[in-house]
Amino acid sequence: MIKRNPRAHQQNSQEKIAKECYFCQNGINDIDYKDGQFLRRWLSSYSKIVPRRRSGVCTKHQRKLAQAIKRARYMSLIPYCPR
Ligand SMILES: [Zn+2]
Repeated sequence: MIKRNPRAHQQNSQEKIAKECYFCQNGINDIDYKDGQFLRRWLSSYSKIVPRRRSGVCTKHQRKLAQAIKRARYMSLIPYCPR
């Protein structure tokens, strides 16, 4: 018997499909690494950076976002791992 992948179904129902990247929509070009609360929006519950396919952020901004998150981690504004 072939089992259906349960994750595929879950992802479809959970994901919100954003048409355009958040940063493009709001005209944000430089992502501020000092704003920890703001950057937490793009972290998963395991404090990992949410991939582009889930967050809907475009390539250009995802790169800047990842850099900002890494800087913020180094400055201990956001955690490397939860607890
Ligand atoms: Zn963008």
